[in-house]
Amino acid sequence: MADKMEFRAEVNKMLDIVINSLYSEKQIFLRELISNASDACDKLKYLALTNQDLMKGVGQLKITLIPNADNNTLQIKDNGIGMNRDDLINHLGTIAKSGTADFVNNAKDNGSSMELIGQFGVGFYSAFMVAQKVEILTRKAGEDQAWKWVSNGVDGFEISEAEKAENGTEITLFLKADEKQYTDTIYLRQIVRLYSDHISYPIVMDLGKNGEETINTGSALWTRPKAEITQEQYKEFYHHVSKNFDDPWMTLHFKAEGNLEYTGLVFIPSTQPYDLFQPDRKNGLKLYVNRVFISDKVEELLPNYLRFVKGIIDSSDLPLNISREMLQQNPLVAKIRTGTVSRILKELKKRSENYDDYMKFWQAFGTAFKEGIYEDFSNREEIASLSRFYSTKGEDKLVSLDEYIERMPTGQKAIYYITGDDVKVLGNNPQLEAFKNKGLEVLLLVDPIDEFWTQVLTKYKDKDIKHISMAEEDFAPDRSQAIKAKDADLQKLTDIMAKTLNGEVAKVATTEKLTNSPVCLAVEDGQMSLHLERLMRNHQQQTAFASLKVLELNPYHPLIVKLSELAAADQADARITEMTKMLYDQALIAEGEAIRNPSFFAERLGAYMLNSLN
Ligand code: ADP
Ligand code: MG
Repeated sequence: MADKMEFRAEVNKMLDIVINSLYSEKQIFLRELISNASDACDKLKYLALTNQDLMKGVGQLKITLIPNADNNTLQIKDNGIGMNRDDLINHLGTIAKSGTADFVNNAKDNGSSMELIGQFGVGFYSAFMVAQKVEILTRKAGEDQAWKWVSNGVDGFEISEAEKAENGTEITLFLKADEKQYTDTIYLRQIVRLYSDHISYPIVMDLGKNGEETINTGSALWTRPKAEITQEQYKEFYHHVSKNFDDPWMTLHFKAEGNLEYTGLVFIPSTQPYDLFQPDRKNGLKLYVNRVFISDKVEELLPNYLRFVKGIIDSSDLPLNISREMLQQNPLVAKIRTGTVSRILKELKKRSENYDDYMKFWQAFGTAFKEGIYEDFSNREEIASLSRFYSTKGEDKLVSLDEYIERMPTGQKAIYYITGDDVKVLGNNPQLEAFKNKGLEVLLLVDPIDEFWTQVLTKYKDKDIKHISMAEEDFAPDRSQAIKAKDADLQKLTDIMAKTLNGEVAKVATTEKLTNSPVCLAVEDGQMSLHLERLMRNHQQQTAFASLKVLELNPYHPLIVKLSELAAADQADARITEMTKMLYDQALIAEGEAIRNPSFFAERLGAYMLNSLN
């Protein structure tokens, strides 16, 4: 008796996208099925470390291709872990990887989703690009019952009990009438060499009467000498381990020797994954011990800020029978991590010399990478030197801290920065005026993480790193031409303004840092910046953190001079209170904050405009 089951909704959509959009690259189905077969062999090998019975009678782990031109079928066989009924339902009837279902459900038109779909690994379902029916015969290692799974990729699938002598999986593709080329041994050999040569198990082609032929090199790619590996092979290995479709931006193959030996083959992708900032995202390194796959969940292998790095680490110095849990506290793992991180940083340093090339990395991963300044105490300065920032002098180019220091005018004491959410808005912030007039560069920091690393990295190469609001004592703007309001008048003005804005600002004060603007908003010492507060507010934490701001006046601005004269002459002049409110709104706008009463503001502005025309 066969059980008939429906695919979960997202599987149907996935199938639809895969079948209709990957049209030009149909042959990748073979890479996907071989990749799964290889994973299945890895899993069996791993489980056999603690349960040797599983390997009894299994012989050499391998992958076999059996083309049959007469029947127009292609079989892909492995003697790996196999699947039981639950596995078949859970792995081939639903999309298990978190995030994939959401993505597929939201993918609107097939065209635009293509570049992204690669990130999920189209996987098993790609078989339906070339097959009108797929039959799986499989038996899980250590279990007696075998199972048959059949589907045409449209109406769900059927599962029934079956017989199979050996453990493992045998997938039969009933090829579509116009896909006969996948029974051609010459063509198949070509595809396997192109996409799957790096697979560490033999891939064997059944040649019927003519016996068998092993098509791939059959040794793990990372164990081969660098000089014998082509870029193409590295790339295909990257596709296999990362399940990505893009080209790697960086390929780093290294061998550490000495008292701890390990090999690493790690990659940085060229495109940002959709889940880079999702908290449940795991890092992308697989751990092997002596070519035996152990785990892809050893988070300690890489720090979080390098979570986008993909690849493998293989060490012969770790014990084979170690449990995944024990790996987490293993000091050797910590050493491997330190070594791997420093190699990656060194390679990034080299690549950073080519600006355009480095920007490809930076635009995709810079925001995550900068978390390292905060997180990785021992590499803090190094990571900072590899970071790039917008600045008031950068125009379209991002600047490094070293370049910043190099072009500092003599006498500049610190590295200055300002934080916000948008480069353009931030670049016009009135608080930058004095810096611009003096030719001092200011970094424009626009990522949430910038609020955090600036708290811990307060010096770089003996220069202080300072928020511009902390820079007042470092310099005085040129005031030789300016006329300053009288202190006594100013006092009267600030009193009236403070009363008018009672409850909205903490206080009204004067500042030396403005030149062109009459007012700005500042935070009191020890309070968090406006930007950080806005971030918190966006995360619904406003009540816990909101603090009143300081409205700062520029005592050299003609408007402030005039208003303070008015205040001295007639404290009750209604224009003072009205303009106070408008000035406060202006200051809010300059900070990218919402004003409280836009219609009041617009009305008054309209009236002043009309007035100026009369
Ligand atoms: P992925 O390989 O990214 O997990 P696939 O769609 O390629 O996604 O495969 C889905 C799942 O089906 C695999 O994770 C695995 O559990 C199971 N599977 C597929 N092929 C095999 C196989 N040959 N042997 C054992 N399990 C398999
Ligand atoms: Mg797969």
